[in-house]
Amino acid sequence: MGIKVVKFGGSSLADAEHFRRVAEIVKADPERHYVVASAPGKRHKEDTKVTDMLYHCYELVREGKDITEYYSRICDRYNAIIAGLGLDFDISGELDYIRNAIEHYSGQDFAASRGEYLNSLILAKYLKFDFVDAESVIYFRENGTFDEEKTNTCMREELKKHQYVVIPGFYGVMPNGTIKTFSRGGSDITGSIVARAAEADLYENWTDVSGCLMADPRIVHNPPPIKTITYRELRELSYMGASVLHEDAIFPVRYAGIPINIRNTNEPEAPGTMIVSGTSEYDSAHVITGIAGKRGFSVINIEKDMMNSEIGFGRRVLDVLEDNEISFEHLPSGVDTMGVVVATSSIKDETKRERILSSINKRVHPDSVVIEDGLALLAVVGRGMVKAKGTAARVFSAISNAGINIRMIDQGSSELNIIVGVEEHDLEKALNAIYAEFVKE
Ligand code: ASP
Repeated sequence: MGIKVVKFGGSSLADAEHFRRVAEIVKADPERHYVVASAPGKRHKEDTKVTDMLYHCYELVREGKDITEYYSRICDRYNAIIAGLGLDFDISGELDYIRNAIEHYSGQDFAASRGEYLNSLILAKYLKFDFVDAESVIYFRENGTFDEEKTNTCMREELKKHQYVVIPGFYGVMPNGTIKTFSRGGSDITGSIVARAAEADLYENWTDVSGCLMADPRIVHNPPPIKTITYRELRELSYMGASVLHEDAIFPVRYAGIPINIRNTNEPEAPGTMIVSGTSEYDSAHVITGIAGKRGFSVINIEKDMMNSEIGFGRRVLDVLEDNEISFEHLPSGVDTMGVVVATSSIKDETKRERILSSINKRVHPDSVVIEDGLALLAVVGRGMVKAKGTAARVFSAISNAGINIRMIDQGSSELNIIVGVEEHDLEKALNAIYAEFVKE
């Protein structure tokens, strides 16, 4: 029998009604051994996530304010879930302890993590599963980075002791025993860590959409879900802002070759999206797997005659960026030109900009060097592009037929993606043009 790790996001565990759906899903398949839970998310658009409420409590304490009224709203959410499920479970002791700890400066991460902690206690009780606290199996190093090997060893040992378990997502423990969280959305990472340690056959990530969509539904109308996507394709799309899974959640399972299945708690019959390490099959109807785009890039344009024959030119330019602790995103270049695309946010400080320009001038003596802002990048991603002739031509003509000026082109050497730079205000139009060319009948 196989092993599945199932992670439920905040919207899937927002209230008693959703808890019931989750239980149905878990119980429908005895292979679903390990459950990772998020904190209660939004029940409706104007609602507040419990994690945000806990961060707010922490802020109130810092400002010296009383949290009685606000904290009672958090208690109400959990008590409503317990009552709605008809559970005989008293968590008032836990709630009092947490409130007291928050009031006594137990730290921001401790406060935030209690959302998943309490939700997992309740879910374990409801499912009649064991509860394993993440603080006993997920470890961070002194410098705050995640300790994957120690975690994997301890988690594996612990999981062996239980057949069916609920583990809270989002946090672990520092060497000094304090709680530390991953970045926001980090329960996805916990799910991935558990899947690796359990040597799972599948990591199911249950959320409120039916998989990764081919494009952002806020930009193009009703994009279909992607049936299968490789980890690498997903990385390309997530980097450009497609957000269905926390970026760092890919690494532990990719390493172990465990596929991730994105599923919809509100539509459990839908197959969702399979994220796999490799497949040569692709959807020939579309050629591309997905498109995504992001604003907020700048390009440092450098020109110098005979640049191509000057050994070490590129390295010296990149040294300047390194000295200023800036990472570059793309490097489109010509014979006598070199462009370095960076996030505008990384060079927003005027003095830093000046420093970069003068250092480049000093180190490589270019004919000109300028920084241009206002660039949006869009990525057309697809493992099928290698085989399908003329994909790049279709991308560029779709964009230019829409009357949009292309400012930059960069095709990854793997032929997995084509990156196009356009003016920020043209981004949505360009994405729609490409979508119409490849997807819309
Ligand atoms: N509850 C945390 C957040 O809102 C972590 C998660 O849901 O994955 O970011």
